[in-house]
Amino acid sequence: MSEKIKIKIDREFCKGCGICIKYCPRDVLDESDDLNQYDNHFPEVVRSERCISCRRCELYCPDFAIEVKEEKE
Ligand code: SF4
Ligand code: SF4
Repeated sequence: MSEKIKIKIDREFCKGCGICIKYCPRDVLDESDDLNQYDNHFPEVVRSERCISCRRCELYCPDFAIEVKEEKE
């Protein structure tokens, strides 16, 4: 059974600091063009196939806006 990595971003919690984008070692995330309710550019997953599930984005996000999960397929 294989595992599928899921990156859940709660865009409304995001303050747009860009830490998750900067510290992702695999360049998975990018800043969205859209804004959340606080006028912040939240991250979006643009290269999901590159993710290695290191969870740096989740651990470094100061606002707990990202969660990385591995789901069984
Ligand atoms: S889990 Fe690691 S590789 Fe995947 S998006 Fe987050 S920081 Fe990048
Ligand atoms: S680290 Fe968290 S608060 Fe900062 S841009 Fe990423 S999701 Fe938003």
